[in-house]
Amino acid sequence: MGPSERNDRPGFVSLVGAGPGDPGLITVKGLQRLREAEVVVYDRLANDALLAEVPSSAQRIFAGKGPGSHALSQDQINELLVHHGGAGKRVVRLKGGDPFVFGRGGEEAEALAAARIRFEVVPGVTSAIAAPAYAGIPITHRDFTTAFTVVTGHEDPEKGESTIPWQALAQGPDTVVFLMGVGRIESIASHLIAAGRAGSTPAAVVRRGTWPDQQVVLGTLDDIASRVRDAGLTPPAVTVVGQVASLARVLHWYHPSALAGRRVLVTRARDQASTLTTLLQSYGAEVVEFPAIRILPADDYASLDAALRASERYRWICFTSVNAVSAVGARLDALGIPWAGLRPGGIAAIGPATRDALAAQGVRVDYMPDRFLAEAIAEGLPGAEGARILLARADIADRRLVDALVARGAQVDQFTAYRTVVSGEDAAGLRDAFRSGAIDVVTFASSSTVRNLCSALGDGAGALLARSTIACIGPVTAETAHSHGLTPAIVASEHTIAGLVTAIEEYLSRER
Ligand code: SAH
Repeated sequence: MGPSERNDRPGFVSLVGAGPGDPGLITVKGLQRLREAEVVVYDRLANDALLAEVPSSAQRIFAGKGPGSHALSQDQINELLVHHGGAGKRVVRLKGGDPFVFGRGGEEAEALAAARIRFEVVPGVTSAIAAPAYAGIPITHRDFTTAFTVVTGHEDPEKGESTIPWQALAQGPDTVVFLMGVGRIESIASHLIAAGRAGSTPAAVVRRGTWPDQQVVLGTLDDIASRVRDAGLTPPAVTVVGQVASLARVLHWYHPSALAGRRVLVTRARDQASTLTTLLQSYGAEVVEFPAIRILPADDYASLDAALRASERYRWICFTSVNAVSAVGARLDALGIPWAGLRPGGIAAIGPATRDALAAQGVRVDYMPDRFLAEAIAEGLPGAEGARILLARADIADRRLVDALVARGAQVDQFTAYRTVVSGEDAAGLRDAFRSGAIDVVTFASSSTVRNLCSALGDGAGALLARSTIACIGPVTAETAHSHGLTPAIVASEHTIAGLVTAIEEYLSRER
């Protein structure tokens, strides 16, 4: 990219704060930038729901960033921004919370400034303030505190001297908020106590603040670490120390999704199940899929191996499941090719789970559709016309994706990467789960799922399911359920997967 080309159409990079999770907490300006973006580079902490606002022609790049799993290094992210900005693109760098609060947004801005690429910062609602707010904790309060401090709890434990000013933090009556510190909560509490803060000082930990599965643990400096351990809290979470933390008991106002922590049965009918599963999980539900499927290697890998060796001939490699990622990973291993040795024009993933599986291998996904369906990949895949596409899939995958790609004029080479076998022992385990009341909700997204489940459970299916709440996507499915002796409590009024999930959520919150 020469400088003259760069001047033809100057690029522009927006460092946008996505907010802490609740998609409603992005700013109006940030949303506008997403809607105009040509390239979006986003983090794990930003809500994927916001990506639905991005034009489907835009390139989406997952930059990773979770504890211990950086899909891309900070240098690589900086380079990406400089590269796409320099190529004249409207780039959005979407970052969790506020871009300049412990987000390394400062380093990204420095890289852009050094490369003389125009950029702007669209501040966001930081988790340091919003997560406490959603737990009913005002970060300041006239009666208790005149200041607050936001501190990183992520310090290298090997580092001998702590750079955190414990004395100063322990002295005032002020609020202290630790980010990135759940793993070190014990050491944080004991440092503060050792520096003079009373062990009776209220403390709170807010995990996934503003998300539907937000969790809050309240205590004091003396016992917060053991309470957090008992609750099994994992990152991301903020820790609030100070008198204001006690207000959570009175001011808690946010009620996370009624689905959080509920066990929901999803009966598989082709790849419908994965969409429903992903959506339920995003509300914090624990999903049990039936029938559980065992994954076995394919019978013969000769043609897939040959294709992987010549991956540069493909415009796209499409992954439609986490299993496909594992299967291809196993072949690459066998061939002695690193993931980085795959060199197609681009890599596409069907949805966030598949994308994360690729990211865990250090592979950047260049395209992911807004709706996580096979057809959506085919509709939105940039440049599919006349392109050669490698598709590694299950033996039983249906033809819709291939047909849709071929209809767009693509040449699709499909390979069986793994076989799926329905495990015969499933039904017995599921019967036990129903008997012990371990399944809260049973979902039916079509009549065939009703027939599948009832025939698998055999005689007495009606009695077994009577203890669970039965949810149907619409009246036709509900009718089938009735004819099998079941009594659906929930029939969605909007007959889509999203409508089904909304109906379940509304029913459970009324029940609560
Ligand atoms: N720029 C971000 C912070 C990035 S550092 C912001 O302004 O919010 C990452 C840390 O942010 C996590 O380790 C966690 O401490 C905190 N965090 C981010 N989102 C959170 C959320 N929804 N709930 C609680 N903590 C969160």
